[in-house]
Amino acid sequence: MKVLVINSGSSSIKYQLIDMSDESVMVSGLVERIGEEVGSLTSKTFPGTDREVKTEIERPIPTHGVGLEMSIDLICKGENAVCAMDEIDVVGHRVVAGGEKFNVPVVITDDMWPDLTETERLAPLHNPANLGGAKDAIKLFPGVPQVLVFDTAFHQTIPPHAFMYALPYEYYEEDHIRRYGAHGTSHKYVANECARLMGKPLEEMNIITIHMGNGASMSAVKNGLCADTSMGLTPLEGLVMGTRSGDVDPAVHNYLAVNRGLDIAAIDNILHKESGLKGLCGMNDMRDIHAAVEKGDERAKLALDVQTYRTRKYIGSYMAVLGRVDAVVFTAGIGENDDIVRAKTIEGLEPFGMKIDPEVNGTRSKEARKISTADSAVAIWVIPTNEELAIAREAMALVK
Ligand code: ADP
Repeated sequence: MKVLVINSGSSSIKYQLIDMSDESVMVSGLVERIGEEVGSLTSKTFPGTDREVKTEIERPIPTHGVGLEMSIDLICKGENAVCAMDEIDVVGHRVVAGGEKFNVPVVITDDMWPDLTETERLAPLHNPANLGGAKDAIKLFPGVPQVLVFDTAFHQTIPPHAFMYALPYEYYEEDHIRRYGAHGTSHKYVANECARLMGKPLEEMNIITIHMGNGASMSAVKNGLCADTSMGLTPLEGLVMGTRSGDVDPAVHNYLAVNRGLDIAAIDNILHKESGLKGLCGMNDMRDIHAAVEKGDERAKLALDVQTYRTRKYIGSYMAVLGRVDAVVFTAGIGENDDIVRAKTIEGLEPFGMKIDPEVNGTRSKEARKISTADSAVAIWVIPTNEELAIAREAMALVK
């Protein structure tokens, strides 16, 4: 079975064609700058193997539909084609927000569109693009099952006392305001991997998963099910991110409006795009921040301190949620690559049975690895996430 996984963003499309017989990646590609003067398409067949062939195209790509068609042409036609179009058995799409209705992956049927369109207001930056990708794929692959995998689905087991905000109840009933979380596909994948690597059934494990990339979130996984997560109604709540503030006093909005005369749209933009690490020190890439800290940049040091302190505080609260913690998992760009952030995050948690082995932590690797000491009561892991594979597995399971 071959699954095409599509992650359609506001001006980009990421895709992978996965051969499910051995879960190998046949093609991975990225279409960028859709709608701009010049767009680009980079595609690799059999990436990371000695058969890898890279193709790069630069030309105007006016719409997502055109970008997807160009990608499919490379996959299925021409000299580096890897399979015919009718060999693609199912297409899986990443969708950021599923609301309460879409709590499991679904095969798209025509009657779902009103409910799907309804989800767009929960993630106005992401869902229209995600669902647009699905519409394009339906046109290109008539009759092929199109599966939607929702980032929020894993979090739908969170109980009401954890997902409700203490706001007037009608805002939940009428406006669907509650905590939904995000990155669920990644949290679920690494929790599963952690259980597999530790040789224990997931249903018997309590795990704190930390997805820390440009966007960042944490989950408390209790007996294999999500019990709480740090993102909320939107992916703005929670940890300190590249450009997103994470938790702030909600009164900040009014304070900024009164004292700076900013309107709601401007404040929202600041919290999403001008805050987080960037707001604190002007840089949003952790590699640049470390380089600046080395040179004695105090603001960069502050940004690192605020970011790791916030994450540690969440670990503490999730220990309270879970009672017993079997494992902590770091994943995504920073979580997988940044030993300094991992060490600073866990610093001070030794009395709670969390001890990092500095040597293992400092050794770079692309593999999953345990970075805690032999006498650490809680196992601490670095597990590379693989959202595309997770989506492909969900899509295949559903269609089978
Ligand atoms: P997203 O998918 O949310 O855009 P990623 O998970 O790809 O983000 O993470 C990107 C971030 O990871 C970068 O902004 C950077 O801060 C961080 N990162 C990537 N590589 C490294 C590294 N070697 N050391 C430290 N941080 C890294």
